[in-house]
Amino acid sequence: MKISHNFDAGAIEVVDLADPQDIRLRLRADNAADFRQWFHFRLQDAAGVALRMVFENAAQAAYPDWNGYRCVASYDRRNWFRIAATRYEDGRLVVEHTPERNSVYYAYFEPYSHERHLDLLGWAEMSPFAQVRSLGSTVEGRDIDMVMVGRPGPTRQPVWIIARQHPGETMAEWFVEGLLERLLDAADPVARKVREHAVLHIVPNMNPDGAIRGNLRTNAAGRNLNREWRDPDPLAAPEVAVVRQTMMDSGCALFLDIHGDEEMPYVFFSSAAEVPAFTAELARRQALFVDALLAASPDFQTEHGYLPGRFGEELLSLASKWVANHFGCVSLTLEMPFKDNANLPDGQCGWSAARSKRLGGAMLNAVLRHLQGG
Ligand SMILES: [Zn+2]
Repeated sequence: MKISHNFDAGAIEVVDLADPQDIRLRLRADNAADFRQWFHFRLQDAAGVALRMVFENAAQAAYPDWNGYRCVASYDRRNWFRIAATRYEDGRLVVEHTPERNSVYYAYFEPYSHERHLDLLGWAEMSPFAQVRSLGSTVEGRDIDMVMVGRPGPTRQPVWIIARQHPGETMAEWFVEGLLERLLDAADPVARKVREHAVLHIVPNMNPDGAIRGNLRTNAAGRNLNREWRDPDPLAAPEVAVVRQTMMDSGCALFLDIHGDEEMPYVFFSSAAEVPAFTAELARRQALFVDALLAASPDFQTEHGYLPGRFGEELLSLASKWVANHFGCVSLTLEMPFKDNANLPDGQCGWSAARSKRLGGAMLNAVLRHLQGG
């Protein structure tokens, strides 16, 4: 039996592999910060063997509420399924699985690889409706790319959508893939109207360094990018500095920041209602946007979400809060679950890449509603 993790987004620490019924693992921390939760590894030579994997330090994860979480697995790296026999007990995450094949991958959530990221950009580049622009470079010299849909013009509203500031939240880039597939569809009437009324600035992956390294929350310099928006450090958080500057140049009439939430089994928004510049008019426009998404996707809900005061003094260092305060526009953080949507559970897959993509497509209805005003 063998475990390997030296590949794109691979992350695990192996403590003891001698006994298939007592495989000892540890969640690995981000490369330069003490956040841990993401894991992704390959296990070989155990077809038909009953495995019991114990993540010994699960209680030290960034978000230790593992109740209701199920590990994902795949043999072919395309089709991922949930492992029902996943449980959290005595501060440890225990996963029991008997692989059907000699090679199996286990992960915290369906990975979104750097190769797929580059393929997405290449595909967008070939669309007659889009162009890909490099905004700058990451700490480790990777491209920070933006897909731009529509040309700027006096009647077109600038819309910004960014994803994966937290690199382990891969559902965010799956969401963007689904949104782009619909947005660049010549036959889709909603997409046509959105393209007519807006110029969209879409950053599919704000944190490619962290993504490749298998980090949960930070970039290669250990920075949580979603705490850098008030005054981004151009050396330690260039990813935010260049995107924020491009946004200042273009203006912003609607902002969406796409995330995953480790603990809550729901899709929800975190709004900017607590920032000083939030007005009654902004609240009214935000309500129209939220209602449009409710109508477009039964996976979305408004009953469950963060409690007020969650971000305290850090509030204006978060992307969607800073943007709302600076531009006075509707600005929301979307959270999708790592677990499942408890209102519409899926026993086989839980919350998944496919569902994230459908939600991305559905979001265009809300974007169009916003562009039509009222
Ligand atoms: Zn996040």
